[in-house]
Amino acid sequence: MTYPHAGAARSYLFNDRTVDGYRRAMAAGAERVAERIRHADRPFSGVSPERLAPEIAAIDLERPLRDPAAALDEVERVYLRDAVYFHHPRYLAHLNCPVVIPALLGEAVLSAVNSSLDTWDQSAGGTLIERRLVEWTASRIGFGSAADGVFTSGGTQSNLHALLLAREEARTGASLARLRVITSAAGHFSVRKAANLLGLGPDAVVTVETDAERRMRPAALARELDRCRRAGLVVMAVVATAGTTDFGSIDPLPEIAALCRSAGVWLHVDAAYGCGLLVSRRRRHLLDGIERADSVTVDFHKSFFQPVSSSAVLVRDGAVLRHAAHHADYLNPLRMAERGIPNQVDKSLQTTRRFDALKLWLTLRVMGPDAVGELFDEVVDRAAEAHALISADPRFEIVTRSPLSTLVFRYLPPEGPGRKLADDANLYAREALAASGAAVVAGTRVDGRHYLKLTLLNPETTLDDIEHVLDLLAGHARRYVDELAPPADHPGATHVHA
Ligand SMILES: *Cc1c(COP(=O)(O)O)cnc(C)c1O
Repeated sequence: MTYPHAGAARSYLFNDRTVDGYRRAMAAGAERVAERIRHADRPFSGVSPERLAPEIAAIDLERPLRDPAAALDEVERVYLRDAVYFHHPRYLAHLNCPVVIPALLGEAVLSAVNSSLDTWDQSAGGTLIERRLVEWTASRIGFGSAADGVFTSGGTQSNLHALLLAREEARTGASLARLRVITSAAGHFSVRKAANLLGLGPDAVVTVETDAERRMRPAALARELDRCRRAGLVVMAVVATAGTTDFGSIDPLPEIAALCRSAGVWLHVDAAYGCGLLVSRRRRHLLDGIERADSVTVDFHKSFFQPVSSSAVLVRDGAVLRHAAHHADYLNPLRMAERGIPNQVDKSLQTTRRFDALKLWLTLRVMGPDAVGELFDEVVDRAAEAHALISADPRFEIVTRSPLSTLVFRYLPPEGPGRKLADDANLYAREALAASGAAVVAGTRVDGRHYLKLTLLNPETTLDDIEHVLDLLAGHARRYVDELAPPADHPGATHVHA
């Protein structure tokens, strides 16, 4: 496949005369990816930034290849070969899901048509489709007919947006320095980021303690609300988490909602991870109470099997979205809003914005919500089985039992001098595993100690996969400990580079 050379730049434009080139290019790209996926026998090659960076640095961006096939060969070398593959059943690290084909179809269509969802006159039906999906999501949450919302780039933006609205609702003369946001110690760091961006003071985010299952303690929240009131501070929002990033724990939403109601405080529920429960037929009850929130974050790119990005912020009362509205003469003058022309930019923090909603639309139209919920339920089932497996394994100690799909545990060296190496052994095991590419797992710190973390989001991951990964982790950790604190019966094991 060759394209005309310099001087024919216009032949690269996508239009009625170039559709054959478009078809060929898309088919060739899809073919490359398909071959990669077909043959990926591990989630990662284990490449290091030191090895990959020079290859990418050596490419001369001033000298185009002028041939999509050659450029794809290059992409194969600098990207596809060493990418991290989330579809692989031994990718167990972060909140990245395998994606469903109807959503990939949506991605291809939306990027080619390239609608921008800021205004009706740049999107037409795209705007109405997004609005239907916002309504659909709001009704799954249990919001009433006044609800509204908008798609965003991710949970971070959704949380920022929700907290902006909460700040504006709370600011009845209170100075920014007196505003507080209460979340749990297991809340997401984007809450802190948002507080910074919103101009709140350095002490604005107050964390309250969690229980043994890493859920916000309502009694601690009540105490904190009371303390703030007595100190003359204004709590602008409580952020409850439905699916904490580290533990998959779900804060007790009904109790928290009741406390917020009686204190007159905005409740934001960060369901970036737990939103998949909205379509679960077996576990929807775990989100009971979410309907009492003022705003909710959902990340379809976490538990709805959607490609990045696909996320939304929903509010119980659509009128509050006015706090983010600005009217520009050139784009969305007030008279358009008055005439009822649907301009989503009136509700969004972004201006030019992708039509990500089309991916969810095609997913629902092809598969339907129950099928998505089934996939998520399978993952949660698997996590429960894996929890039992790890709990029964003397090589490990496990922290909590998540109602979702995370497993936080650590290798525990045998009793003796090796015990004190537990932290480093777990760190080492995670890195050694990633360098081998055989599997990718995450890590986190719990009460100052290093732990390993599995986040299951792939229904294709079997218990065998998990067992295998546990063996690999224990093997790496054990080798590390034996090297530094050799057991008396076989001193001098092979050298370990930590
Ligand atoms: C992932 C996550 C976020 C951030 O979402 P992004 O889509 O990565 O911006 C926020 N809150 C929680 C609980 C999350 O798990």
